[in-house]
Amino acid sequence: MDTIHLDVALAVAWLRAAAASVTAETDQLTRLDAAIGDGDHGVNLARGFTAVAATLDGAGPTAVGDVFVRAGATLISKVGGASGPLYGTAFRAIGKALPPGAASADLADLAAALHAGLDAVRKLGGAEPGDKTIVDAFRPALDAFEEAVAGGAALPEAAASAARAAGEGARATVPLTARKGRASYLGERSAGHQDPGATSTWLIFQALADVTAP
Ligand code: ADP
Ligand code: MG
Repeated sequence: MDTIHLDVALAVAWLRAAAASVTAETDQLTRLDAAIGDGDHGVNLARGFTAVAATLDGAGPTAVGDVFVRAGATLISKVGGASGPLYGTAFRAIGKALPPGAASADLADLAAALHAGLDAVRKLGGAEPGDKTIVDAFRPALDAFEEAVAGGAALPEAAASAARAAGEGARATVPLTARKGRASYLGERSAGHQDPGATSTWLIFQALADVTAP
């Protein structure tokens, strides 16, 4: 396998793996969201990513950026909760930041695109690091990915490093008090629970690590 590019097939494999993972973990995500939200995060994401996988059946996009733009548009239209627009906007931004029309992206392109994805989440949701949101897993994942790429790592290693950092970031949300989204209505009672969105962000980065693993 070419380990320094993300092509259309690998992008589709990533999104399918993300769909399988959030579907397998629906109950766990729902349980986390039931503790500090309204208990729909697992169902929201399983529905959204299953729809993403379905739109990539058959003749899909020929440009890697368009795979993510399509995924983002699908998530925005299929997922009602806060997470649908946030993940949808992130994937659209990732897709739009990749070189237009290109069949594959190199690691520098991918790092820049992930950066654009995080920026889009922060612009839409206004969350700062430490607010107990998606940002708390996405930001360390991006930092780790960028650091790995700058150090000369290939995609499998950079993705594994990003997934590890996302998992640590998600676990580190446990003691935090939510300051954005539905969980913020609980104030300090949101502390002591892992954030569902940070957890699903970890699953999504873990899916990239899984499909690129040697
Ligand atoms: P809803 O809160 O509308 O029910 P979900 O349950 O699908 O939507 O998603 C909840 C998750 O969304 C939270 O755990 C949190 O990680 C994420 N989230 C909520 N608001 C924001 C925000 N402003 N910025 C980033 N992530 C957010
Ligand atoms: Mg919810």
